Order: sequence, then C-alpha cells, then structure tokens
Amino acid sequence: MAIKRNSSDISVEDGSVVISGWVQDVRNMGGISFLTLRDRFGTIQVTMPKKKIDPELFGLLTKLSRETAVSVTGDVKESNQTALGLEVIPTAAEVHSEAAVPLPLGVIDKVEAGMDTRLNNRFLDLRKPEVKAIFELKALMVELIEEAVRTNGFTQVYTPKIGAAGAEGGAELFKVEYFDRPAYLAQSPQLYKQILMSSGLDRIFELGPAFRAEQSNTNRHVTEFISFDCEMAWIENEEQVMAMIEEIIDHVLNGMRERGAKQLEVLGKEINVPARPYPILTYSECLEMVNANGLPLKEGDDLGTEGEKIIGDLMAEKGIDLYFIAEYPEEAKPFYIMEKDGTPYSFSFDLDYRGQEISSGGQREHRYEVLVERMRKKGLDPEDFGFYLDAFRYGMPPHGGWGIGIERLLVKMLDLSNIREAILFPRDPSRLAP
Ligand code: ATP
Ligand code: MG
Repeated sequence: MAIKRNSSDISVEDGSVVISGWVQDVRNMGGISFLTLRDRFGTIQVTMPKKKIDPELFGLLTKLSRETAVSVTGDVKESNQTALGLEVIPTAAEVHSEAAVPLPLGVIDKVEAGMDTRLNNRFLDLRKPEVKAIFELKALMVELIEEAVRTNGFTQVYTPKIGAAGAEGGAELFKVEYFDRPAYLAQSPQLYKQILMSSGLDRIFELGPAFRAEQSNTNRHVTEFISFDCEMAWIENEEQVMAMIEEIIDHVLNGMRERGAKQLEVLGKEINVPARPYPILTYSECLEMVNANGLPLKEGDDLGTEGEKIIGDLMAEKGIDLYFIAEYPEEAKPFYIMEKDGTPYSFSFDLDYRGQEISSGGQREHRYEVLVERMRKKGLDPEDFGFYLDAFRYGMPPHGGWGIGIERLLVKMLDLSNIREAILFPRDPSRLAP
C-alpha cells in the first residue's frame, strides 16, 4: 500500500507513496517528461521516463493543464537533479479536478499581476508560496498576541458588532436594517470593553472585526479590519498601559522571528526586534519636530499622514522603529479619554511603527461627572449613552486600553506595500466581492 506523504515529509525509504497537490508545470523533453507537483509545503518532481511508464498514465499526466488538482501514486527515488534530492516515478494517478485554460492569473508567472486581478482571483493568488506565507504569518501573529495577553491575565471576550449607535457617534458608521429599525455596524468595541471594566473582568481582550464607513482610498485603510483591543482596570497611569502593549508587541516580534522563520525566508523578509523601552515622544515634541522639518502644523492639528511620516523618518535616523506619541490635545481625542488636568492635553497615546499609526490608546475617564461633562463638551448627548454611563455610576475602577489594527501591524512588520496584502478578501469603498 502506498502511504500518503507531502513534499516536506517524504524520503527514499518511503517506497511507494501518494502525493496530492496542484500541477505547477509539465515539461515534455521527448523521451522523458517532468511534472512539478505543488502542495501546501513546497514542490516535488514527478519524473516520467517514457519507456518505463504505462503509456496510458504517461498520456494522462503529460497532458494535464496547469493547476489541476491531482494525486499521484509512485515510487520515491533518489535524484541529484532536484532540490529535495528525490523524485517520484508514477505508477498511478487520480485527477480530482482539472483546471480550466487559460488561468485568470498565473501562479508561477514572473510578471506581477495587478492588485485587482489578484484579489479577483484570490484563491489562485494564494497558491503562490509568498502570498500564502503572509497569511500563515498572520495566523502566527494572532497566536502570539493571544499567548502574550493570556500570560498577563487577560480574558478573551466578544462584544456585539451590531448596535443602536456607535462608540463615538460620527459619520463613520455603516447603517444596516435591523428588522424594522436602523442599526449600525461596530466601528470599535470601545464602549463595551469599558463597561466590562466595572464588572470584575479586570483585564479583557477582543480580536474581532471593526467596520469603518470611511471613503479612504489609501494603502492603509479598509472598511473592515480586525481590531485587537485590550482594556485593563486598576491602573495608576497611562504609562502602565503603554508598558503592557510594549510587552505584547515585543513577544509578538520575537515569536514571529523565531517561529515564522520558514515563511519569512519565503518572503525574503527579516523582522527587527527593537530594544525596550520604546521611546515616548509627546505630541508637543512631535509638533516641534514637524515644524522644524517644514510642515507648518499648529497646536491642536492632527499630525496626519505627512506628520507621522516625518516623525518616522527622524526616528529611523536613530534606528528606532517603534515609538509612542503621547499626550495629544484633549480636543483632538474622543470623550472617553482622560484629560490631563490643568493643561490642554490628555492621557492618550498612539503607537507608531516606522512612520505610521498602528494603535491608539490611553487612560479613560472613569469619573462619572467628569465623563458626562466631557460628552457635553464634545457636543454629545449623555442621554444617548445611557447603558454605557450606567456602568460608571456604581463603582468604576480607573482603567485604560488600546485598539490595534492587526493588519497594520502585520504590514509594518513585514514591510508590505498595501494593507490589502494582509487581508484575504479586503473590503474598501470600491470592493465588496469576492
Ligand atoms: P487613522 O488616523 O490612521 O485613519 P484612526 O486614528 O482613525 O486611524 P483609531 O480609531 O484610532 O484609528 O483605530 C485604532 C486602530 O485601528 C488604528 O491605529 C489602526 O491600527 C486601526 N484602524 C483604524 N482605521 C482603520 C482602517 N480604516 N483600516 C485598517 N485599520 C484601521
Ligand atoms: Mg487613532
């Protein structure tokens, strides 16, 4: 009986094997033909000396179209012509599903297809080892995130993605029909994770979708992304929140480097693990830095894409990849952020990775009256936030947290050019399928 093997787990001692995969390529050289079979782990060569193979089998295998799904039974032989040092001489084959010709997207073509063609044919695009590697690394990244938060006592939670209103009001919400009334897709779990801080679930995290109805056609915005949110209670200051996020990112970067080595090699990428602690710049310092570099931003302005990039370049000159920007003006931050009393600033921070924001966080306002006051200041009606505010009326500990777009983290880590590279089936203003 032939045993089932894959390309990473096969040896000459195996004798007769069955290998399953896609036909990457068939080369007919006259007296001998070669079929390159690709599976999840790599490729293996099926060698067919015409005289030694059953003519019917030879005819079948040599005429297969590229990307056909097959199982080949054969004998493993040593070979000094192949990367694996072995080849398979076929004795039988089963064609599961023939690939239509021509392919809408070449899997081994040297010419790079455009992003739209790739995304329209994502199933084929993913057959490229360097594309698949990105998603294997994404899965590893999530595993490492979960390891790091669990080690620190965070409980995983799930909050609703359909609700009556948004976290911060605003126009970035997708409206959906909820039976006979309007509802909205969650732009963030903000309100729910804060409510949980009053519940005794002291430290929580969520990995789930966030929806943003933003007309942003950039390489870092999509309308649906996965947000990694944490919230922790009984903190004394926002530095404790920053220290936690730093510890988690550090675990993730180290783990990616060690446990993702194979995929990183496929991608030709290396991961730099920055020294800790990550520097903390203040918003005011950043303002001075961008002003000195020719960008005339005023107090209170958003640093914006350009400002973030200038800071990123200045930090890069010092060999710094990851850094916090803290103490933004309270005016620029949502109502739930705690003000730095007696100043125009707030206990908020962004974590930037090589010139781009990957996370926003901070210490939250846990004092009921102050929170209500802040809502009013932002033009929000506290009446609209009843269920949220209730949680602040019966004993709310001081707390803080953050949200990270995991795709942005991956893009920066792997130095990818577009967030769509890090999402299987991205959603943006012009793409709703596949
Ligand atoms: P930006 O200013 O870069 O658009 P933001 O400040 O609006 O981001 P936040 O509301 O602070 O974003 O969301 C927290 C995190 O979620 C961001 O730091 C980012 O990693 C991620 N994120 C936000 N919007 C998007 C988006 N449209 N696509 C992908 N990730 C996003
Ligand atoms: Mg932000």
